Amino acid sequence: MMASSIDTTADGPRIVIIGGGPTGLAAGYRLRELGYTNFVLLEARHKVGGLASSETSPNGFIYDIGGHVLFSHYQYFDRLFDKLMGDEYQELLRESWVWMFDRFLPYPFQNNIKFLPKDVVLECLLGLIEAQKEPLDKSRFENFEELILGVFGRGIAKHFMMPYNFKVWAHPPRLMNKEWIGERVATPPIERVLGNVVLDRDDVSWGPNATFKYPRYGGTGELFCRMRPYVEDQLRLCSAVASVDLQHKRVCLRDGRTEPYDVLLSTMPLDILVTSLVGDVPDCVRTQAARLRHSGSYIVGVGIERECPSTKCWMYFPEANCPFYRLTYLSNYSPDVVPDATSQYSILAEISHSVHKPVSRTTVVDDTIQGLVNTRMISEEDRRSIVDAFLIERDYTYPTPSLERDEALSVVQPWLEEQDIYSRGRFGAWRYEVGNMDHSVAQGVEWVNRTLLGDRANELTWLAKRGC
Ligand SMILES: Cc1cc2nc3c(=O)[nH]c(=O)nc-3n(C[C@H](O)[C@H](O)[C@H](O)COP(=O)(O)OP(=O)(O)OC[C@H]3O[C@@H](n4cnc5c(N)ncnc54)[C@H](O)[C@@H]3O)c2cc1C
Repeated sequence: MMASSIDTTADGPRIVIIGGGPTGLAAGYRLRELGYTNFVLLEARHKVGGLASSETSPNGFIYDIGGHVLFSHYQYFDRLFDKLMGDEYQELLRESWVWMFDRFLPYPFQNNIKFLPKDVVLECLLGLIEAQKEPLDKSRFENFEELILGVFGRGIAKHFMMPYNFKVWAHPPRLMNKEWIGERVATPPIERVLGNVVLDRDDVSWGPNATFKYPRYGGTGELFCRMRPYVEDQLRLCSAVASVDLQHKRVCLRDGRTEPYDVLLSTMPLDILVTSLVGDVPDCVRTQAARLRHSGSYIVGVGIERECPSTKCWMYFPEANCPFYRLTYLSNYSPDVVPDATSQYSILAEISHSVHKPVSRTTVVDDTIQGLVNTRMISEEDRRSIVDAFLIERDYTYPTPSLERDEALSVVQPWLEEQDIYSRGRFGAWRYEVGNMDHSVAQGVEWVNRTLLGDRANELTWLAKRGC
């Protein structure tokens, strides 16, 4: 087991970082910031950024791997953003919408049911009143589905919460825990919901001036490309780790190279890390790691030769008339993501899949375009104006907060640490609630602070004691 703090000179222990996504990059950045150079950063792909990178289609449209909206909880992250981006960013309104019953209502759904057909409004209200008859005690719910029904009632559950969450997570809510939710899902006070209906009041979850930042050039990925120069000396691209040899403390790359380590920081998916360990691994560690669940995504980017018909940013789609759960007008985030912003716009569609929700790869692009027509995002006629249709696929996009997750993590993570292996980041930690870009950067930075400065309490984000 590693000493509580290590020498910060180049003679200190050799650190190997697996993964050049936000977590690994931030760890490398922080090491360099502290003057530490005895490390190597191994990235499987030809570029950095991981799930927060951006891809350019052959027609020159830039797409992110799903809608990335930056919410920062950290001063360190804010300072880093400012340092890397200067004034080369856009500031956008943090507003979102739900499309259902052939109309838009402002998000959050439960506060804006007045926009729905009257019989649905009644169903939602009656369900909410029934659910809130008893004082709310979240501890009595066994899973996410019970929480949805117990907090929101049958109407809101049926029309929005259940179908929408299944679409996003690609897992039935009854298989998910409720611990990840924290304060994310606010209990809708019946007085407020009723008041909004009776008084015809619009109600959005954040204040009127809430904004978010987005890079002016290059999409979300630009932020992480700009971290690259700070770790260039230690960065090894096209270096996919195939296995980790516990006894000799070295990682073996797919191309046959090996890298010795004293301390390993892994940001690759935790279940894959455990299957790639060579050596004496207890059965319980292997079994628990195999219980972790996840979903993958198809991200469909569509470029259209027309002026953008809307100023909206992103929208949610709970209904079955389209395969996507969320659409983003990406060209509203920055004109730079389309070749000619004066005559073109772009849409980003997110479709999740898993063993519980298979999606056909061969038809997903066509099904998405049909979904755009069904939901009236584009007209039948607009089909002829589509000049780009680009598919991005990733097998690991959402670490599912499943019922088994916390028990599995409580077995796997401490055992890994005894081997001087630290698994962090969106799929390294496998905690969705601290898996956004700012959290991931914080996980990398806090891990370095802990490792170099020797204070476990420094890792508040990974311990899920900070975040959202
Ligand atoms: C659909 C979607 C929407 C999102 N929306 C938002 C949002 O709105 N706001 C927000 O803040 N965040 C959002 N995120 C989350 C954001 O993308 C993550 O926070 C961030 O990318 C996690 O960084 P990471 O470094 O932990 O993991 P990753 O980004 O997954 O990076 C891991 C890196 O490890 C590399 N790797 C994997 N295996 C190996 C191996 N064997 N050898 C070497 N390298 C390997 C990968 O290639 C990758 O580069 C979203 C993510 C998705 C998928």
